[in-house]
Amino acid sequence: MERAPFSFMRGICRIDSICRRCYPDAMMTSRCEAIVIGSMDYREADKIVTLFTLEHGKLKGIARGAKKSIRRFGGALELFARLRLEIGLKEGLVQLHGADIVTVFPGIRTDLKKIAHAGYACDLSDALLPEGLSNSRLFRLLAAYLEHLDRSSDADPSDRRFFEINLLNVLGYRPLLEQCALCAAELTGGAWLNPAGEVSGLLCGECGRGGRRVAGTTVNLLKRSLQTGRFGMIGFSPGELDEGGMLLDSAITEHVQRPLKALSFLREMEEKS
Ligand SMILES: [Zn+2]
Repeated sequence: MERAPFSFMRGICRIDSICRRCYPDAMMTSRCEAIVIGSMDYREADKIVTLFTLEHGKLKGIARGAKKSIRRFGGALELFARLRLEIGLKEGLVQLHGADIVTVFPGIRTDLKKIAHAGYACDLSDALLPEGLSNSRLFRLLAAYLEHLDRSSDADPSDRRFFEINLLNVLGYRPLLEQCALCAAELTGGAWLNPAGEVSGLLCGECGRGGRRVAGTTVNLLKRSLQTGRFGMIGFSPGELDEGGMLLDSAITEHVQRPLKALSFLREMEEKS
């Protein structure tokens, strides 16, 4: 059977509801690399998983019998596992035929704080990614973050912010770091946050009157986060984390359409530490 990349179908019909006219060979299969970014039990024996695949972007798939068939899936469908998959389409659903585990990131799974950070990164990616559009830069970013968490001794909150600004940047949602978000003036005289929190982005002194001032070092660290491609290279101080975090949180809130469950868990873990 000839393999056809699903990206051929983009723009013709939706990846999760493909019609017979657009896709007459409904049993066609494809191999892909994936990270599990969401997983839920479905009916008695099945699982519905959200996959971020390198080749086809975000897909929702069903793994029939996954809860019972250890032989076919083992622990492969756990959140943030990295896999090689064989997927197929039948009756309009992406079906998982088999999965090989590349890694389950064992260094993350023994540490609650790391689990919270990895789970949040997956949930945020899920919330912001459109379905069925490949984005190899974002796939590599998430994979690099998970690899870094896996081998680090601790989950560093600086890495979370590094991930967020790069994620927003790749998706075209990044707050401006050089110009006022309201009047577009150059931020040469400093940067402020909107006092009422209604505008996400950095503001000039005039537009941000009464708001919190953001240190130049924070803005520079955010800029550097975009320039260096490696996790672990940028360290924010607690004050810089606070300021950068407020800016990034508001930018994320603007684009996320649902509450991020993983964020509540992450905050809980951070409060404990
Ligand atoms: Zn302004």
